[in-house]
Amino acid sequence: MLYFKNSTILKILDYYKDLWSLSYLSGLASWDLETYMPKMAANFRGEALARVSTIRQKKFLDKEFVSLINKADKEKDLNDYEKGVVRIMLQSLKLYQKVPSKFLEEFEILTNKATVVWADAKLKNDFNSFKPYLEKIFQKNKELADLLGYEESPYDALLDLYEEELTSKDVTKFFDVALPPLKTLLNKIVTSPNYKPTHFLESKKYDKNKMIALNEKVLKDLWSGYGREGNFRLDVSSHPFTISFNSQDTRITTWYNETDFARSLMATVHEFGHGLYDMQYDDKLNMTPIAGGSGLVIHESQSRFWENHIGRSKEFIKKYIKDIRSLVNKNDLSVDDVYSYLNLVKPSLLRIEADEVTYHMHIALRFEIEKGLIEGKLKVNDIQEIWNTKMKDYLGITPKTDKEGVLQDIHWAHGSVGYFPTYSMGTFLGSQWEEKISSEGIGNNRYQEVEKWLKNKIHRYGSTYTLKDLLRKNKMKFDPSVNIKYLENKYTY
Ligand code: MG
Repeated sequence: MLYFKNSTILKILDYYKDLWSLSYLSGLASWDLETYMPKMAANFRGEALARVSTIRQKKFLDKEFVSLINKADKEKDLNDYEKGVVRIMLQSLKLYQKVPSKFLEEFEILTNKATVVWADAKLKNDFNSFKPYLEKIFQKNKELADLLGYEESPYDALLDLYEEELTSKDVTKFFDVALPPLKTLLNKIVTSPNYKPTHFLESKKYDKNKMIALNEKVLKDLWSGYGREGNFRLDVSSHPFTISFNSQDTRITTWYNETDFARSLMATVHEFGHGLYDMQYDDKLNMTPIAGGSGLVIHESQSRFWENHIGRSKEFIKKYIKDIRSLVNKNDLSVDDVYSYLNLVKPSLLRIEADEVTYHMHIALRFEIEKGLIEGKLKVNDIQEIWNTKMKDYLGITPKTDKEGVLQDIHWAHGSVGYFPTYSMGTFLGSQWEEKISSEGIGNNRYQEVEKWLKNKIHRYGSTYTLKDLLRKNKMKFDPSVNIKYLENKYTY
């Protein structure tokens, strides 16, 4: 099949290669910034990245290019790939045309500074020093929403940046359905006579070299292209992430804390899930705007599918139990020991350490606060208290420090508002993929078959479809009850 044949689309794709090159090299500079760059290089790197982004914007807004996009938008008989190109180009055009470059530049400077102030405030447990920056960040995000436009809530304009077409109504509806059964389940778990709130492996030290070897072994089993000779690599960063430049160059990172080995292992499996999406799109999509996945709900559904449904399974633990015994230097460690550790449910203060049941309460809390701030119903001055009250309501615990409370996440300092809901919705969607795959008789220990399935149903299209269209194509609908049922069956106690 010919992917691209319309002459206007072909012209767009030809011009787009210059824009792609700039994104490619900026991406590489960002990856370096997070992994190997010496600390002092940050200032000039920031300057270079900001200038490249301005050059890209100017180049994007070239009159001839813009008229090509508008022309393509009116073309009839485009195939799905071509329609995908137009959709993604119109999205960028909307952002570039409605948001002045001066605004983007100011936003960039503000969030760069805010990130440094946030890190220091977190270290010192001092919310007050971060407060003025947070106020500005929310004010700027409100301005951004006004520039972009919205129908009901300014928060909708921001959500749309992370998952096209997602609205606060959708998110509210999702939490209304998802939270009550999760609360009931949590209550059932923590009041069970069999419930143990701690696990000895949480504080057990591990051998870092053995952890590195285990992460590599797992990745080799999951993906034949792993390593120097392949198309995929693993590095270390202060927070795990995935970045992909083309279908032949995808990079993930993990971290090593030397205790609580699940954090390293599950991060590796999680990021692999993101990376796989970017390694399995059709080669013909390389250098086009629809290469790789763009929607964050779909992306997170991939990482959470691998993390929760494969990485936390007994089959997975069985496969690596000998390595895990050696890793924590405990020869009598059983598969059940590791299973109960990887699937321990308990109310905790930190989102990134939260389990499959309580995680979504952390997200609901952030969603309510963000939405309230953007809609002007809450004030930054009050959110420390609101945070603590909501933690008590949702999870029955209160943070003693801001580090474990309102200062814990980097997202707001980065300027990202409207990002959090995609984590929960993606996790829920991950369970729907699991249900579909197992209903077709594919066991979750048959990695290559699982990968082939994901490629055929999701990955190969890159960003050709929106979330809704992709689900429609797979004869599915977003359905929170699937994850609820999965959790209720898993945590019987
Ligand atoms: Mg993720």
